[in-house]
Amino acid sequence: MTAPGLGGATLMLHHLAVTTLKLVELGYAGDVDLPLVCRIINRAQKSLKAKVGTSVATIGEPDISGIAYTRASIFSLLPDRVESEILIGVTHAPLSGNLFSMTTPVGEIVPSLHGSYELCELSGRTLEEYIAQSALSEFLQIRFCQSSEGHTWADLVHDEVRGCLFDFVPHKPDKVHKLRRGWLDPQCRAKLINAGVADDEVPAAEAVIRAIQRPTLVGSFLDGIKRPGFGILLGGLAGGGLVNLVTTAITNAFSATILVSLGVIAVASVALVLGNWIQAMRAARARIRR
Ligand SMILES: [Zn+2]
Repeated sequence: MTAPGLGGATLMLHHLAVTTLKLVELGYAGDVDLPLVCRIINRAQKSLKAKVGTSVATIGEPDISGIAYTRASIFSLLPDRVESEILIGVTHAPLSGNLFSMTTPVGEIVPSLHGSYELCELSGRTLEEYIAQSALSEFLQIRFCQSSEGHTWADLVHDEVRGCLFDFVPHKPDKVHKLRRGWLDPQCRAKLINAGVADDEVPAAEAVIRAIQRPTLVGSFLDGIKRPGFGILLGGLAGGGLVNLVTTAITNAFSATILVSLGVIAVASVALVLGNWIQAMRAARARIRR
């Protein structure tokens, strides 16, 4: 029994508490940069704190005909969980039923990279972004199930493809769409909030997903140079700059005119690259709203 008057304080503490997401390597997963997964999560918000735990080096052989791990066997391989923490075992192990990930109600998540390379390639996500997005959608699902005895994952997922984190997607093209868009549709968001999932954890998860979808300067540049318009313009500017430099070298006459034209070229190049980035960010925002 909580003494009267303490209820408010307990509630406040709950909201102020930062939830720790501990990521551990389960078997070999050295191709995933776990500290980078943590940075992706931690940079975007303050309510969830991701950190890397001690890895589990050996996970033996799959117990289902040597090809997949059952729920019981994969979770028995996870280290002990600190009670307040969410434990995430990142693995290449194939899971039974060809599942992309498994969870337990207490707060354990095993996102498997088995079969994820092609999905990442098709959706333009890195392995680290894939793990961050999978872990957060499973985390919200765990919170939903914890919110009421009667809640199961089946109350949250839907067959309709909305690009929502809770789309039930057995088919690859739908999974790619979900990875690209990965938002919480209004119905699912309302379900989480109404279920009483801490009201800072839902926006925190959403902030991370948005950060994953936001194009970086480098990413937008690499995408841009694949497009003829951007490539030709930038190539023209670079060519102009080179001609100026070569002329200067040959004639050994570094004039004010050349300096000015190099400056103009540099400014135009920066404007072009930044303009392309802004355009990519606008397009990404429009995709989220659609
Ligand atoms: Zn939904």
